[in-house]
Amino acid sequence: MELVDIPKIVLHIHLDGSLDLELAYKWLGEDGYDYSFSEVLEKLRVDKECRSLNQYLEKFSLPCKLLNSYERLKEASKSLFLKLEKEGVVYAEVRFAPIKHVNDKLNINRVVEAVIDGMNEILKNGKIYGGIILCCMRDASKEDNLKTVSLAKEYSHLGVVGIDLAGAEALYETKNFKYIFDKAKQENIPFTIHAGEAGGISSIKSALEFGTLRLGHGIKAIEDNNLIERLKNENILLEVCVTSNYQTEAVKGIHPIEELYRKGVKISINTDNDTVSGIDIISEYKYILANTNLKIEDIIKCNYDSIDFIFNDKVKNKLKEMYK
Ligand SMILES: [Zn+2]
Repeated sequence: MELVDIPKIVLHIHLDGSLDLELAYKWLGEDGYDYSFSEVLEKLRVDKECRSLNQYLEKFSLPCKLLNSYERLKEASKSLFLKLEKEGVVYAEVRFAPIKHVNDKLNINRVVEAVIDGMNEILKNGKIYGGIILCCMRDASKEDNLKTVSLAKEYSHLGVVGIDLAGAEALYETKNFKYIFDKAKQENIPFTIHAGEAGGISSIKSALEFGTLRLGHGIKAIEDNNLIERLKNENILLEVCVTSNYQTEAVKGIHPIEELYRKGVKISINTDNDTVSGIDIISEYKYILANTNLKIEDIIKCNYDSIDFIFNDKVKNKLKEMYK
């Protein structure tokens, strides 16, 4: 089977970090900047051998500035879902933080509507299913984060499928954000939490205490055998992003994806940020096949197993059919 033909389930991809380069180039021109295409590339993508969280994070400032209107957010969302569809992705949950795109002319409801509308234009063709995850931010106020949770509830019938917690994990400890997930549970909103990327095992433990069934990254679990057992026993899915982990220095030597998989932890393979990293889901599969002993069958199994953890219950059976 060709890699493009594998039905792919993508659960961890950020809209701002996966902004189409052509769109960015066009919008910069509209905004009066005279950058060449290669300058735009340099501003949005890390060096090939990037091993620096700072350099990685710097690449998000321009996309956030550019995604400042209903039209642009809609276009960015639409182009990302279309790109994923072409890569053979059959289900994608795209995440972003609405709060980062609010300005004098754009209120937070319109921000969310734009991204939903862009997605739905591609979903209506019936080749890819998906949903939007709204990110609460570690550096945002409690009020703003609770607003994000309310928005997830408000737009759940239109395409928002869950919430996340993103941002600097090493600076703002996961344990401080219980209030977000208390409210999400109250409102029956599914959630995932970035934990065990820049932060350690205590961050993962806090996320598990909040009741998460999915961890964004979670790879630091490799440091603690008891925690690995717990992930297995409690049937927790790790949203693993190999290239991103190297670029942000979350992983230095051998990536733990294979060991975690062999030990029986459920793994979903993702890219995190296609444009920032200069990758896509197919190149990520190729990287894993070339650098671990995992085989194409293992990648298919990771995708199949991930279906049980998607936030849109209505399409689970349809997706499982695709693997028969
Ligand atoms: Zn992420």
